[in-house]
Amino acid sequence: TKWVYGFGGGSADGDASMKNLLGGKGANLAEMSSLGLPVPPGFTITTEACVHYYSNGQTYPDGLQAQVAEGLKTVERVVGKTFGDASNPLLVSVRSGARASMPGMMDTVLNLGLNDATVEGLAKLSGDRRFAFDSYRRFITMYSSVVLGMSHDDFEEVLDDHKDRLGVTVDTDLKAADWEKVVVEYKAVVERELGRPFPQDPHEQLWGAVSAVFASWMNDRAKFYRRMHDIPESWGTAVNVQSMVFGNMGETSATGVAFTRNPSTGEARLYGEFLINAQGEDVVAGIRTPQSLTRAGREEMGETAPSMEEAMPEVFAQFVDVVGKLETHYRDMQDIEFTVEQGRLWMLQTRNGKRTAKSALKIAVDLAAEGVISQEEAISRVEPSALDQLLHPTLDPNATRNVVAAGLPASPGAATGKVCFDADEAERLNQLGDAVILVREETSPEDIHGMHAARGIVTARGGMTSHAAVVARGMGRPCVSGAGEIHIDEKAQTFTARGRVFKAGEVITIDGSRGEVLDGAVAMIEPELTGDFQTLMAWADKVRRLRVRANAETPLDAKTARGFGAEGIGLCRTEHMFFDEERISAVREMILADDEQGRRAALAKIEPFQKSDFVELFTIMAGLPVTVRLLDPPLHEFIPHSDEDLDALAASSGLDAAKLKKRARELQETNPMLGHRGCRLGVAYPEIYEMQVRAVLEAAIAVKQASGTAPIPEIMHPLVALGLEMKFLRELTDRTAKAVFEAAGDSVEYLVGTMIELPRAALRAGDLAEHAEFFSFGTNDLTQTTFGISRDDSGRFLQAYMDKGIFETDPFVRLDQEGVGDLIRIAAERGGAVRPDIKMGICGEHGGDPASIAFCEQVGLAYVSCSPYRVPIARLAAAQAAL
Ligand code: ADP
Ligand code: MG
Ligand code: MG
Repeated sequence: TKWVYGFGGGSADGDASMKNLLGGKGANLAEMSSLGLPVPPGFTITTEACVHYYSNGQTYPDGLQAQVAEGLKTVERVVGKTFGDASNPLLVSVRSGARASMPGMMDTVLNLGLNDATVEGLAKLSGDRRFAFDSYRRFITMYSSVVLGMSHDDFEEVLDDHKDRLGVTVDTDLKAADWEKVVVEYKAVVERELGRPFPQDPHEQLWGAVSAVFASWMNDRAKFYRRMHDIPESWGTAVNVQSMVFGNMGETSATGVAFTRNPSTGEARLYGEFLINAQGEDVVAGIRTPQSLTRAGREEMGETAPSMEEAMPEVFAQFVDVVGKLETHYRDMQDIEFTVEQGRLWMLQTRNGKRTAKSALKIAVDLAAEGVISQEEAISRVEPSALDQLLHPTLDPNATRNVVAAGLPASPGAATGKVCFDADEAERLNQLGDAVILVREETSPEDIHGMHAARGIVTARGGMTSHAAVVARGMGRPCVSGAGEIHIDEKAQTFTARGRVFKAGEVITIDGSRGEVLDGAVAMIEPELTGDFQTLMAWADKVRRLRVRANAETPLDAKTARGFGAEGIGLCRTEHMFFDEERISAVREMILADDEQGRRAALAKIEPFQKSDFVELFTIMAGLPVTVRLLDPPLHEFIPHSDEDLDALAASSGLDAAKLKKRARELQETNPMLGHRGCRLGVAYPEIYEMQVRAVLEAAIAVKQASGTAPIPEIMHPLVALGLEMKFLRELTDRTAKAVFEAAGDSVEYLVGTMIELPRAALRAGDLAEHAEFFSFGTNDLTQTTFGISRDDSGRFLQAYMDKGIFETDPFVRLDQEGVGDLIRIAAERGGAVRPDIKMGICGEHGGDPASIAFCEQVGLAYVSCSPYRVPIARLAAAQAAL
């Protein structure tokens, strides 16, 4: 097996396409060498060697040692120096570099090969003792901390003592003799701490560094980063051994980093920083303040020290030429590391630069306009979920953050407001013009008005698909859910977190994009849907096949959704219309009624409200399809649970307390999720669904007559499992429609269909399709019923499953394509066989998840439906799925 790939001197064994084997850094070093750019020669030990190392009790594969020796010899030949040679020493860096870039997460050692003998050689060769000993002390510090497990502080103290004694503040003021003394003391520190001298054998140093880089693949930072970015542990890291070039050889030497375009705004202008007389890590480590690369950058920052453009104009010109070539070659914004050694430019790294959403949009649109990439490529360059950043106000990245609790990033965006523990109170304060953050143990549908009134929501319990999270995303309210560190004391009207007590009325800020609760008010920046956003979305709309609808029931949500480009409503949850203060009492009256007659009387009170709701929705959606889901939740959700609350309700509504409690007890269910809900309500109490169908169709006729544009209502029955259920519901719907049309002397087109949210419904989709004209995959419930996992309780154990690698992702966030996906495929096939023109879409939370959307494209669904704020994300993801 080939474990080692060489590069440098104008050629390379590998190239940019070999990232899996060579890591991103190694592959790009090889590519740059082949392009004839100045790259210090070296070689890459493959990621396969790392994988072998970990699957074989941390041992190297056979043949690696020999290949490394061979690689080293080649480098020696090209550079004209010898590793370990006292008079003409080759020094190398040993650098980590995985498939996906994990900036700063793993380790690197510079100046390797230095010892008491070679440092003298380096001094003679360079004619610069200061430089030689500066390099040696850097090496001892780095090697000792990365490979020998010591702390930087051990050395920091020694250096600070020296500086104090000499009365200097910056490292560059130390003379050769000073560094020599520092080196002697550093070595003494190592020997004292470890009980053995600092290793002098360059080969021992090299293999120590190689295994330290492998080990850094498993450090906590790297593990955390991988989890955050879905990077598999099985990939491993490559190791790059590369001849050193020196930015610390005096005033004509320097080191720096550059972006070919501005990574935060996307502006097409070279952007970056450099330091004269310094080595790589100094720039990022903040040891000295770096200077701007360009004169324009310097002027903008108001810096006095000269930019690279001014300080070393010749190398700068060469650099501009090289980075231009790199961007053209890679056809994307590049993030570059370079070093200038005595006026000579060396390229040390290039990669596609990380960028903000705003910058990603601008760069993609600009590159397409420049003819560098096609419109299709531009579409594929922007991460759909990154658009979230643009749709909500966000915290100023430069603001100081004082985190008081961490939870889940349930709904993006940021908000500042006064702590409030009660939904009614939140509403009251909002009306007075106060911004509030609703802080709850968890939320229930009854809190909806408080959530709406609040600028943001925090819950101590609940997951990414908890009620609070789903509703908050739907409303575009920032939300942090499951912040377990928060302990609420409702009586005292306080919460405690990390030992600090917050009273109601105290100001906090939440960052829903990071899942953090912060102390006080933190500066924000408003979203701005720029021209680039519009441009890219228009391109996306041209190529996508999937339609995108929104889940919305309030006029505000519907308007927001249309503003974001929704092409209809895929899910209007009618129960949300029942919670309004005026209606809930009629709803309760209906629930408490003794018989059908009593229920009908109460329903008659609700009907005008329902009708006017639909008139508003249909008007806003102007002729676009609107899927109305008939009543779904169990009736007990509309009445309070505790005796206390029931007494209060009885007192305020004039209902009989005893009767109320009796009914509440009757409605109680052991497992409401699988209880009397969904179409089971319509089967038991057809008058409820009849009222809703009437309201929908009368509203449709009214809007048709008023506007001249007929709405397209799609009446949807939830939780159907059986063909005969569907038949019953279809007949109920058609019978009611017929009566409405006769009475109105007018009619509209409508569809009758069902949600597919039970495995049986999916398997027997053919039976349902006999009577249903459309299917909407309710994947929240379908996931729940397929796994038998309650989404309200999954938060408690899901993390354990993720930690153990049993679940890779939360199935409530990313569709389980194998299991739940199979059911969808089966339902699509069997439904389509019976009714070829059956219309199919998805309306679960997954409708806004890019990976799940790609699946919907594959299965050939007609549309996805998601919360209003995810509509742009879905439009872009649908376009990418179609490419
Ligand atoms: P990271 O992945 O954390 O950026 P790198 O391996 O890129 O780590 O190296 C850290 C720093 O050392 C960078 O600034 C890099 O440019 C510099 N560096 C790495 N190898 C060499 C080398 N052979 N000569 C000079 N500087 C180097
Ligand atoms: Mg780097
Ligand atoms: Mg459901």
